[in-house]
Amino acid sequence: MAKEKDRYALSAWRGEFLHQDVEGAYREHVKEGTARHLIVALRVWAFLLVSFGWLDYIGLGLSEGFYHLLAMRLFSALLLLGLSVIVRHRPELAKDGGAVSILEAIGFLLFFIIYFVRPDIVIWNIGVTVIILISLYIFIPNRLVNSNVTALFGILGTLYCLSLGGTEPRLLVGIFFLLSFPAIVGYFASRRLNLSSRQQYALFMETVQVNQSLQAEIKRREELEVELKLQATTDPLTGLLNRRQYETLFRREQERVRRHAGKLSLCVTDLDHFKKINDDHGHDVGDQVLKHISDLFVETLRHTDIVGRFGGEEFILLLPDTDLDNAMVVIDRLREKLQASPVEADDKEIRITATFAVTEVNAEDVTIEDVIRRADKALYRGKEAGRNQVVAS
Ligand code: GH3
Ligand code: MG
Ligand code: MG
Repeated sequence: MAKEKDRYALSAWRGEFLHQDVEGAYREHVKEGTARHLIVALRVWAFLLVSFGWLDYIGLGLSEGFYHLLAMRLFSALLLLGLSVIVRHRPELAKDGGAVSILEAIGFLLFFIIYFVRPDIVIWNIGVTVIILISLYIFIPNRLVNSNVTALFGILGTLYCLSLGGTEPRLLVGIFFLLSFPAIVGYFASRRLNLSSRQQYALFMETVQVNQSLQAEIKRREELEVELKLQATTDPLTGLLNRRQYETLFRREQERVRRHAGKLSLCVTDLDHFKKINDDHGHDVGDQVLKHISDLFVETLRHTDIVGRFGGEEFILLLPDTDLDNAMVVIDRLREKLQASPVEADDKEIRITATFAVTEVNAEDVTIEDVIRRADKALYRGKEAGRNQVVAS
């Protein structure tokens, strides 16, 4: 958790995240909002710039100076509106503030022309510069570092223009302090804004992460639940239903038969000479054979039939809605298919057969054991009679 906090550490002076990747992700996150804000700022800036032309007209009339300034104002306004259109289509330009900083610098350069065209309103110009400096930090979304650079450019440029106009050095120092003041106020106000929106973002991201880990935990638990359920109901080697599960399903089917006078058949099957397969090929191959047979049973029988592992190499098959005659047909088909599906192991084909005993569940059967006992007797007869056959009981 401490590490997570470090990840969102902030640089107090830059008003940004210390980690570049976090800062990048933050700016990407607020990109659209910043772009919208910037577009509005650029339009207002352009509007004010052109509106102030009215004051030029009052002071200069339709003189050459007025037209120079008007050209400057219209050119700047066009640049601003042009950038606002570009930002609308490419909001990522608002992300690092490079484009807007260049425009701010150009804006200052064009603004400096006023000092030479209208030396009569120098004081007024300095006042406007104060407003521009504050707006630059607060009104125009940009990185603090960029705003600092353009503000410094604006202040030094203003002082340079004034010095060219003959302003005394003593007065220049005073004007420097006068202009630094709005820049400092703007810097601190903007820094607070930058820091608090990043703190909010960090909190938001932490919430997102907590949410994600909670979701992952829920998913893990759900998977675990499925796994536990599977373990509780199936045999790990074959994936077939275990005894407890098929006994439960048997009781359900038996109940249905009682209520609706339906049919239910049960088949017990035991692989023939399975000991020999283990002896000849090893226990692992024996397991492989058991898996192969289980898959074959599941694939071949109906979706509604129930296939369970009774023990070692013995299986229980429950056939709902199936009477004895039909069950005999179904199971004999299964026997044939098994006989015709050898297992490939040890570069050899292992032929497998099984003996099946089929019985129909009747009204006297109380538990599954009653049914299995009856089937077992038939199975014994099948083994005695030469195996690989289906015996009815
Ligand atoms: P029969 O035709 O009379 O049934 O002959 P069989 O050799 O199959 O005799 P039986 O059914 O008594 O033998 C069962 C053998 O199955 C004994 C045991 O070695 C083997 N077996 C039981 N469970 C497993 C198992 O999970 N994996 C493997 N590989 N073998 C098993
Ligand atoms: Mg056996
Ligand atoms: Mg056997």
